[in-house]
Amino acid sequence: MAQPRCRSVLITGCSRGIGLGLVRGLVEANPAPDLVFATCRYPEKAQELQQLSKQYSNIKLLQLDVVCENSIKKVVKEVEEIVGDKGLNCLINNAGINVLASLEEVTAETMLTIYETNTVAQLMVTKAFLPLLRKAAQLSTGMGCHRAAIINMSSLAASMQLVQANEMFLKVYPYRIAKTALNMITRCLAADLKSDGILCISLHPGWLQTDMGGNMAPMQVQEAIPGILSVLDRLGEKENGSFLDWQGETLPW
Ligand code: NDP
Repeated sequence: MAQPRCRSVLITGCSRGIGLGLVRGLVEANPAPDLVFATCRYPEKAQELQQLSKQYSNIKLLQLDVVCENSIKKVVKEVEEIVGDKGLNCLINNAGINVLASLEEVTAETMLTIYETNTVAQLMVTKAFLPLLRKAAQLSTGMGCHRAAIINMSSLAASMQLVQANEMFLKVYPYRIAKTALNMITRCLAADLKSDGILCISLHPGWLQTDMGGNMAPMQVQEAIPGILSVLDRLGEKENGSFLDWQGETLPW
């Protein structure tokens, strides 16, 4: 009998960087998911993603601004119309922002902006897609992306245990605090949704050369994507509620 596989994936923030790399990696994989919902807030400006979606018919390019309630509602409806009773197998909460701010520089406004995009949005997007994730979960057994999974794109910078080891992150107060809160969302969802058969993890994608990662980063996006996809492929009940990196290593909270 064929192995169960992930039929549908939705990724936020696919206009560039890791989100775009994940879309490319997924459609080039063998087997590729039947449907890759590549969402971004300004599809008309996302030239590379547009090109890719012309090459691969399994890419559905949809508009989604993760901090906009109406945009979330609209995209859920669009996805529902396509997947029907099969639901959605995997939601990757990838969209994120960073604003450099040391202790001296950080303001309430920056904290709230980052918290809105990097933490609150992930919870709201996940809540909105829960009915579709539940539908997919009902059609399969076990745990993992073949059934139903939520992947929260976190960061090594969020680890409370590694704060001392990563002094370079001291200038990113808002970012790392918001990602630590995102990790708590992962833990809560993993506990809450376990009985539905929906898995949730936090993933550190590696320090990668993107607009956010900068050009000092040791790796390019395409170097980390095979690792990330293999980690996602291997997820099972044991990994539910864990904090993993792109090589599948467990990170301390
Ligand atoms: P980039 O800055 O290159 O890309 C960020 C993406 O998020 C863009 O597609 C951007 O869209 C999108 N985005 C931002 N705000 C919104 C919004 N409100 N709605 C929808 N999309 C939005 O970042 P990376 O690709 O490097 O990062 C991706 C994820 O990985 C982030 O969550 C980041 O925190 C995490 N990460 C990255 C690391 C790295 O080294 N690069 C390391 C650890 C974690 P737009 O083009 O419209 O602005």
